[in-house]
Amino acid sequence: MLTVLRLHLPSDIPIVGCELSPYVLIRHPDKSVSTDDVPESFPIEGYFLRYKWYRVESDKKVAICSIHPSEQATLQCIGCVKAKIPVAKSYHCTPKCFSDAWQHHRVLHERAASAVKETGDEEEDMYGRFNNATSGVNNNSNASVQAVANGTSQLHPAAVTQRNGGETWVEVGRSKTYTPTADDIGHVLTFECNVVASETNSSVGHANTIVTSRVIPAPLPSPRKLISVTNADVTGRLNSSSGTFTVLSYNVLCESNATSDLYGYCPSWALSWSYRRQNLLREIVDYHADIVCLQEVQSDHYREFFEPELDKHGYQGLFKRKTAEAYNGSDQTIDGCATFFRRERFSHVKKYEVEFNKAAQSLTDAVVANAQKKTALNRLVKDNVALIVVLEAKFGNQGVDTLGKRQLVCVANTHVNVHNDLKDVKLWQVHTLLKGLEKIAASADIPMLVSGDFNSIPGSAPHALLAMGKVDPVHPDLVVDPLGILRPATKLTHTLPLV
Ligand SMILES: [Zn+2]
Ligand SMILES: [Zn+2]
Repeated sequence: MLTVLRLHLPSDIPIVGCELSPYVLIRHPDKSVSTDDVPESFPIEGYFLRYKWYRVESDKKVAICSIHPSEQATLQCIGCVKAKIPVAKSYHCTPKCFSDAWQHHRVLHERAASAVKETGDEEEDMYGRFNNATSGVNNNSNASVQAVANGTSQLHPAAVTQRNGGETWVEVGRSKTYTPTADDIGHVLTFECNVVASETNSSVGHANTIVTSRVIPAPLPSPRKLISVTNADVTGRLNSSSGTFTVLSYNVLCESNATSDLYGYCPSWALSWSYRRQNLLREIVDYHADIVCLQEVQSDHYREFFEPELDKHGYQGLFKRKTAEAYNGSDQTIDGCATFFRRERFSHVKKYEVEFNKAAQSLTDAVVANAQKKTALNRLVKDNVALIVVLEAKFGNQGVDTLGKRQLVCVANTHVNVHNDLKDVKLWQVHTLLKGLEKIAASADIPMLVSGDFNSIPGSAPHALLAMGKVDPVHPDLVVDPLGILRPATKLTHTLPLV
């Protein structure tokens, strides 16, 4: 007989709109083990698998921790209640949870206080199903909390086969996968997998079930500002008949950098890749950009996630992973830059790769004395790269301009070194990239698009170089230059007409 050996859900937190796809391990009658489906239409020796999804609705209203959506709240912040902050954000599961979150939680209070004068633009209550445990407001402190009276209801159903005790199981799906809907928010889901005998159409053996955490709404991404670049900004570069296109640049934060050490204020479930990748994909696809430049894309995530998923949405991708001279992690998790374009808008013509380590090597060979070479390479070899692709537009003038010239655009995508004590290295990387692009522009007269994560703010030297084509020789970023790679400052220029 067919036996279910194991059920497992790879994603920790079910999110509205993101498909849940349980892993079902079965043993065949011939003792072989597999994860293949055995549908009713193709039974094995008279048995097949039947799936059901249930939403577990409890009579008892349960408040949920604002930080840990799978945990029931036991505390409520009175300051939030007084400040009329959406009630869902006032709940915490334990005193430790509240005190850990306080540093960031207090910002809610500060924002609410400063928003008092403005219109009552309150966010929608994310969970929207709480008892009124808000009486007895304590007037003394913003940080005070009180116990939430949830009664004794449990987080998960006591026994999944028992459908009483104030619980209603609502059947929501009959296929192996299920995509939570808005109706599921705040509820746990149960996945049931039964072995069914074809002859009797009744299940044999015990029901195999798994219970999810509570379903949470899909988070809204931070709003982005769309910056328009018009013909007036790029005089002489694009003519009015060239058509328009949109570009998105996004550092997606690779999994190996999404650690609790670096992001201690962020709950660990929200740092998990299985959670973030769904949200990233949804956000990226929603912008519907013609060109998408991503940074910090892990090699394995490019291959197994971004490339196949964005392909489904009509994108073709190119990837350049960082070099690994300074890096000591696994080859799989080295990140890099990925550039995608919509196939119906562009086609791929050419690809160039920039490895700043190589540029470091030739720079030190040329200008640094032998004795200093090791020190210089230590400072310059940081594994950063840039990916440059030349695309041909399939729009505007129906593909041919008046001179019959191909409509090309060169797209650079880079991730410049992050360290703030390496300002000379950042600027040198940006300068190296721009010099490379200048060569391409000169040889082919192609419009240039430079995008990426430059780890630099407006006013910094890399920004000045990009935006103005030069750096003020007395710019404070030029002060620290132990290798003399930025001197003379007059060489820090480029002639690309960037806006
Ligand atoms: Zn509060
Ligand atoms: Zn909590």
